Amino acid sequence: MPETTLEVTPALLIPPHLVGQIQSKLAYVDEAIAAARVAESGDRITLALRAAGREGEIEAKVQRVVQEMAQGGIAPRVEILEDHLDRPVSYAADPLAELLARREVYEESTGIFTFGPLMSRLIEYFESRFLELAAHFDAQPYRFPTLMSAEFLDRVDYFRAFPHSLTFATHLREDLDIINQFAEKAKYEGRGLNAPAEFFSQVQALLSPAVCYHLYFSLADHPLPDGQLIATSVGTCFRYESTNLTSLERLWNFTMREVIFVGSKDFVLEHRERSRQFMQAIFEELGLAYRVETANDPFFVGEFRKQAAFQTAFQLKYEIRARLPFKDSTLAIGSYNYHQDFFGRHLGITLPDGKPIHTGCTAFGLERVAYAFLAQHGFDPAAWPVAVREALV
Ligand code: ATP
Ligand code: ZN
Ligand code: MG
Repeated sequence: MPETTLEVTPALLIPPHLVGQIQSKLAYVDEAIAAARVAESGDRITLALRAAGREGEIEAKVQRVVQEMAQGGIAPRVEILEDHLDRPVSYAADPLAELLARREVYEESTGIFTFGPLMSRLIEYFESRFLELAAHFDAQPYRFPTLMSAEFLDRVDYFRAFPHSLTFATHLREDLDIINQFAEKAKYEGRGLNAPAEFFSQVQALLSPAVCYHLYFSLADHPLPDGQLIATSVGTCFRYESTNLTSLERLWNFTMREVIFVGSKDFVLEHRERSRQFMQAIFEELGLAYRVETANDPFFVGEFRKQAAFQTAFQLKYEIRARLPFKDSTLAIGSYNYHQDFFGRHLGITLPDGKPIHTGCTAFGLERVAYAFLAQHGFDPAAWPVAVREALV
């Protein structure tokens, strides 16, 4: 429970386009921070602290984040590719309360949710619509592991870009005494397991933060036969989002369906654009109020300024942002991504002419699609768009 509130006046006025991005990073500044809010006006930060006594130190760390993320940055020009935010919706409440009341969702632990029949059927149906996109491109099916190689993640600089949201997989060291001691003494105490850190192995694997990386890893250090490939896969992804793990909007453990394009620059860009157009018709049938706009990945503080501006300027990422009527805001339910030749260069995947391949992906967050649908159309199938009603009822 928060013990005290700390008000910080940022040394730099936080520009509107960074209010949300800085607020989400404040979760990682200090373990004492239970919640953080940046005022829309950008001139005030309010922190709920779990304990009093270290305010000066925490304020200094907060100022460092503001400095590194906001200094000298120019506001990106957000480009809107589609705007259907005013599409009619029939529901105005947060569906989470109703989902909990109906025992349709159960929060097993922070950010870890179980879904019942309604959410499962909706997710299955929406996924079947995404599979139409995969079929349209004759995408080849792949199955990827939940664990992801630490060695490969290192090769693609993941630790530098997104250290804050990593989830590590470890195991007990191969040592009779350690395993016996653990077996006798292990207990969940308060905020976690009581086992000492030295019992655990070095990290060889992490829980996958994305799906398409597995495909690129499998192609590493070789020329790509035929010079192009379209694949599809669904996978469980993990992003530790700390105190931002609220509601069904942001989960630690979620599911992504991706359609992945590997080939020349023109091949990838053309398929990314064709994805967007294909999905536009499907989203219309689903009655979804949303827009598609340029965005950037949630890079950590040190990498943020350079990488985020670059991504937006070169239109490497478009987000599909669905309307959440109950809070008058939007939530990303998917993205159309172009990575240029980043994976080709880092992983040594080449085109027939010896140049690095280009990659891109269309990714859908399945839990968020179902949540946004319920937020817009509610629980009464009679009020649902006809395509969904006919498929589910
Ligand atoms: P956000 O902007 O919300 O942090 P993102 O830009 O990191 O999301 P992508 O990397 O583009 O998301 O991932 C593709 C999709 O996966 C997102 O559009 C979203 O639907 C889903 N997704 C990403 N992170 C989460 C999460 N923590 N919980 C649930 N779904 C998520
Ligand atoms: Zn991807
Ligand atoms: Mg985003």
